[in-house]
Amino acid sequence: MKSFEYVRAESIAHAVTCCSEPGTKAIAGGTNLVDLMKLQVETPKRLIDLNSLDDRDILESKGGLRIAALASNTEVAVDRRVRSDYPLLAKAILAGATQQLRNSASVGGNLGQRTRCPYFTNIDQPCNKREPGSGCGALKGVARIHAILGASRHCIATYPGDMAVAMAALDAQVELAGPAEKRRMVAVREFHRCPGDTPDQDNILAPGELVAAVHLPPPVGGRQLYRKVRERSSYAFALCSVAAIIDMKRGRITRADLAFGSIAPKPWVDERLTQLLVGEQPAMSLFVKAADVLVDDARGVGDNDYKIPLVQRTLIATLCEATEVSS
Ligand code: SF4
Repeated sequence: MKSFEYVRAESIAHAVTCCSEPGTKAIAGGTNLVDLMKLQVETPKRLIDLNSLDDRDILESKGGLRIAALASNTEVAVDRRVRSDYPLLAKAILAGATQQLRNSASVGGNLGQRTRCPYFTNIDQPCNKREPGSGCGALKGVARIHAILGASRHCIATYPGDMAVAMAALDAQVELAGPAEKRRMVAVREFHRCPGDTPDQDNILAPGELVAAVHLPPPVGGRQLYRKVRERSSYAFALCSVAAIIDMKRGRITRADLAFGSIAPKPWVDERLTQLLVGEQPAMSLFVKAADVLVDDARGVGDNDYKIPLVQRTLIATLCEATEVSS
């Protein structure tokens, strides 16, 4: 690890000012950043520690919840209101990492976590995300965990997290704090970005901007499911995941909010699925059609081709479970 200066944040404005300066990174739980610093993937000259701000509150706000960025993953997952009104979010968080990591990892840091592409984390390999213009090791290498949707010729990495996938299905909003004490709201669905020609930019944060909080909308009814497929049953990133909020009235689907993890560079939402499902009677033929729509633009690079039928089957199984159609 390279040496760095360490500063405690005195206020959010102080943290924003520090982060506006090149070479400064904010740290909260450090569960991703410290690993990347040890590997010299991240080499900040200065770290500003946000933990001194001590804002970890989960407060009722506008009929929903405002979750401070410093709240730990565990604090969110065990919160009584989250467990009763947003069980999807609790399930997704508890499907990720380990208890020790969830105790330390913050909500803001979880949103900002970086890809687990092995070429990104190996500084001896080419990687356009780590070093723009150096090439993409995964394109001609081992690409089992990589994206089938939303990738570009410069990068095929996935966003690996669980929490943000549930937040995307819930259509949560991210509160950002920027220079001059400006705040703005961005939908979680718009927070992460596809690589295009600038794969080094994982999200829409402007220089100096920090995640201040996540706002959950008022509770919705229906069944909330999070189905994660991985190579072992704990402490593994998803090969694909599905977050679903499904409601029905008089035998017809009235709500179908879906988001998918680990198949794209961001939590993947396809509004066509909602349009296809809402108003219809649940049936296997309908779910197969939705699964076909989901992957009509999907493309693998060989190693990850299996993800196309895998995410289709995972979607169908999730919809069957939510609507009690036998699979
Ligand atoms: Fe880097 Fe993206 Fe290629 Fe992985 S897929 S090596 S993160 S450019």
